[in-house]
Amino acid sequence: MVSPVKSHFSPNISQKQPLAVSLISRALDSGRLANAYLLTGSNHGDKVELALELACILNCLNTTSGASEHSEAFCFLRHGPDSANYCQNCRLISQERHRQAYLQLLPLDPNNPNSKIPVEKARELAFELTKTSPFFRVVWLSNAAQDVFHRPAANSLLKTIEEPKNRCIFLLAARSKELVLPTITSRSQEVPLVQKQASQVLIEPDSIETQGDSSLSKWSKLAFFQWAKKRNMHVVTREEALEVSSLLYTAMTKPDADEDLDDDSDPLDRLVMLELSIIGSKAIDDPALSGYLAGLLQLSQSLKTRLQRHVSQKSSLDNFFIEWLNLRTQVSGILP
Ligand SMILES: [Zn+2]
Repeated sequence: MVSPVKSHFSPNISQKQPLAVSLISRALDSGRLANAYLLTGSNHGDKVELALELACILNCLNTTSGASEHSEAFCFLRHGPDSANYCQNCRLISQERHRQAYLQLLPLDPNNPNSKIPVEKARELAFELTKTSPFFRVVWLSNAAQDVFHRPAANSLLKTIEEPKNRCIFLLAARSKELVLPTITSRSQEVPLVQKQASQVLIEPDSIETQGDSSLSKWSKLAFFQWAKKRNMHVVTREEALEVSSLLYTAMTKPDADEDLDDDSDPLDRLVMLELSIIGSKAIDDPALSGYLAGLLQLSQSLKTRLQRHVSQKSSLDNFFIEWLNLRTQVSGILP
C-alpha cells in the first residue's frame, strides 16, 4: 500500500520542496524526528523557510498537542501570512525573534564567507541546551560547512546533537554533505532540497496529501516498485526498469493516453514521490536511504535539464532509469 503523506508545512514550501517536506512530515507523524537534519542543496531561502516553519509547528500554542499526529495546523495555516492573529510563539518565531525556541548559531560575521562560528558561542549553546525549557528548541546553523562550523566548534556540540538532554532539534544547512565534518554528518539525517529552476516544475501543493490516489497506486504495482515492500531483497531487472521508462515516456509525450495521469503534475515528479512514499518511513532512520533519495533527486533534476534541451527524450529516460536502478542496487542490501 502506498500511504499518503500529510504535509504539516505551508502550501508554498510544500510545493517548492516536496521531498524535504514529506520526509520531515513523515517523521512528525511517526513521532520520530531525528536530533539533527542536514539540509543540503543550494536553495538557501527554502532552508530558512523550512527551519522557521518547523519551529512554529513544534511550538505553536494553537495546536492541541505539539507535533503529535493529532495536532492541528499551526498559525500560518490558520491565518495566512498576516501575523496579527498568530499565537505568541508563531509570531516571534516568524520574525526570527524567539530567542528560546529558535536559536541561531551563526558565524561571527555572517556576511563574510571566511568567518567562522566562534567556539565560545558553540559552548554557550551546548550549555544552554542542558537547561530545561518549555519550548521545543530548534537550533539553526545557516552554514554547517567545516570551514565555518569548524572542528573545535563542532566538537563542543557533538554530544548534544547525539543525545540532547531536552527537546531540541538541530537544522544544519550546507550546499552538500561533503562540505560538512564527518562527525556531524554521521549524527544527522540528510534532507535534500531541490534547486530553484527544478522546483518551478514541481507538483501541485495538495498532491502530497493525495499521493495515495489511484494514479500512484497503479504505478506502484509495477515490478520495479515492488522491491521496497518485500522483506527479501528483490533484484530489479534492467527490463523492469525499461518498462517503467516506456510508461513514463508515453505519459510525458501523450498525456491523454493515460487517464490516470490527467492532472497537471509532472509524471517524473510523481514517480520520485512514489518512491519516497514507499521507502520514506524507512529513510527516516537510515542515512544511507535518505542519501539514496538525495541521489535520486539529483538524477531526476539532471534528467529534467536534458529534457528541456530536447536531447533525445527516449534514450535520456532510459539512461535515467538505468542509473536509478544502479542507485537502488547499492541500497537494496540495507533494507530490513
Ligand atoms: Zn501558533
